Amino acid sequence: MIAVAGNIVAFTGAGISTESGIPDFRSPGGIWTKYKPIEFGDFLASAEARRESWRRKFATHETLQSATPNAGHRALARLVEQGKMTAIVTQNVDGLHQASGVPDDRVIELHGNTTYAACLNCRRRYELDWVREIFAVDERLPVCTSCNGHIKTATISFGQSMPEAAMERARAATLAAELFIVLGSSLVVYPAAGFPITAKRNGSRLVIVNREPTEQDGLADLAIHAEIGATMSRAVGVN
Ligand SMILES: [Zn+2]
Repeated sequence: MIAVAGNIVAFTGAGISTESGIPDFRSPGGIWTKYKPIEFGDFLASAEARRESWRRKFATHETLQSATPNAGHRALARLVEQGKMTAIVTQNVDGLHQASGVPDDRVIELHGNTTYAACLNCRRRYELDWVREIFAVDERLPVCTSCNGHIKTATISFGQSMPEAAMERARAATLAAELFIVLGSSLVVYPAAGFPITAKRNGSRLVIVNREPTEQDGLADLAIHAEIGATMSRAVGVN
């Protein structure tokens, strides 16, 4: 299917990143089942919620910072390089697709990116090391040096609306796909989980690679329940 498809689109979820040692925060025992997520409204309204959000961020920072792309990321990067894969739509916020060499404009991040921060008001970008230096002094909260706005990791929080531009780009990419490959997503979170259905209805072939069965396996032309790295590196011919 990869060989005959002119335009391949990937849709990636937590499963591709767990193979790089990044815990799936939503899985049983994951951090989001131990702590109540901080709603976006609370982040805006409460300085204590903002402090708690930075505390949690820096508690998991090292794990994320030391994670590197795995064979699954590298296989997708190769397909992008070959011009066969036009877009990677991802639910992940770890930036590992970009770290594997995929250009920024080929990665569509539905839930944002946690490897940097941004002003909620003017969107100016800030690096986490800068935030950490400020926060290290009595948990002082960072504010935007241009507009005084709140600074938050560049992720989409619970209660925050989906990023319109990313959703629109993901829809367009999905409709252009001839082969749509889902990698490491259990396909339960909507609206993101609607993309494979849209692709299939639009005439694309659909492949799902996930360790566990998904609700959409029945819709797929091929469903593989195995490791992503091992599966994709064999399919694409990279290590
Ligand atoms: Zn600002």
